[in-house]
Amino acid sequence: MPKLGIYLHIPYCLHKCGYCDFNSHKINSGEMSSYVQAQVREIRHYAPQFEGRKVQSVFFGGGTPTTLPTEDLASILNALREHYSLESDCEITVEANPATLELGYLRNLRAAGYNRISIGVQSFQKDELALLERVHSAEEADQTIDQAKAAGFDNLSLDLMFALPGQTLSSWRDTLQKALKKKPAHLSAYNLTIEPDTAFHKHRERGLLTMPPEDFQLELFKETLTALNDAGYKQYEISNFAQPERECRHNINYWENGDYLGLGAGASSYIEGERFRNTALPSRYIAEIVKAGQAVEFTERLNPAGAMGETLMLGLRMMQGLDIPRFEKRFKVSFIKTYEKILDALLKKNLVDLDSNRLALTSKGLFLADSVILEFLP
Ligand code: SF4
Repeated sequence: MPKLGIYLHIPYCLHKCGYCDFNSHKINSGEMSSYVQAQVREIRHYAPQFEGRKVQSVFFGGGTPTTLPTEDLASILNALREHYSLESDCEITVEANPATLELGYLRNLRAAGYNRISIGVQSFQKDELALLERVHSAEEADQTIDQAKAAGFDNLSLDLMFALPGQTLSSWRDTLQKALKKKPAHLSAYNLTIEPDTAFHKHRERGLLTMPPEDFQLELFKETLTALNDAGYKQYEISNFAQPERECRHNINYWENGDYLGLGAGASSYIEGERFRNTALPSRYIAEIVKAGQAVEFTERLNPAGAMGETLMLGLRMMQGLDIPRFEKRFKVSFIKTYEKILDALLKKNLVDLDSNRLALTSKGLFLADSVILEFLP
């Protein structure tokens, strides 16, 4: 039976950052304890469906999971342990914001069984953190990383962000170097994109925010690849870099289009070809769970062309590329015959590498990943 990943969404944050389009809401202490109870109930609701299925990774994301007291994070994890078969070396990640953490809190998390932490640093520059409306300083982030290590989180990941308005090559280099000095096991470096319905989108419409030109964004990305490669990190996905054996298991399962169960407000699941998503508003999620034990508001089964396109889209994000025999086994098609024309065109432009087992982006294709991937979508 294929292994399972479990995602738990904690939708609360100290402040809504201007660029954020995640399902995140300002902390609401009256609601948060009901939310925890609802999530435990949802955990129980799905348990019979996944009896005997090994869970290889658990990921608490948000929002900011660490806005919850550690007792709550421990009780959610305990409920998972009680009702699902977590592997003995199950990767258990919690996303964290430096402004919510201190040493005692981190020690409690580690004692509760969390064994991986992903800290949203984003930048070590004061002006960039202010622009992003982050509620922590560079010094706090620096201190939090040390405290997380002292608490026993050796599997530690840092999130950084580039292509920020006003960012320079030297400020990005400085952020990268400060992050590397901490020797994290894993680094994610995302470029800022302005999504609709965010404060940043409105600012840009009003001419208050100017994004760096695309060629400069590319230069920043190339700088990232050089700096991280020189420091011994392996790029295993477009935006993700790891020391040996420290790739994020949970995300690899997602990019390989494996099964995952999403619990919490707005969480998505993908189980045996079916995708379903919970209602997003936390208060409505709580009410639905109280009523029915689950809060699904949308379900779809992708048609074969859609499912193949999605598998390609996710697989090409990984440096190892798409596993062609696995793709053919799953969809019962000849990969080469199905995509012959597209592959010919991309090979001529040196955007992809192809052998009988793998299709992967070339280094040129990596910089144009979004448009290459689009070619395969129906
Ligand atoms: S901390 Fe993260 S999830 Fe919360 S508002 Fe900021 S970007 Fe969004």
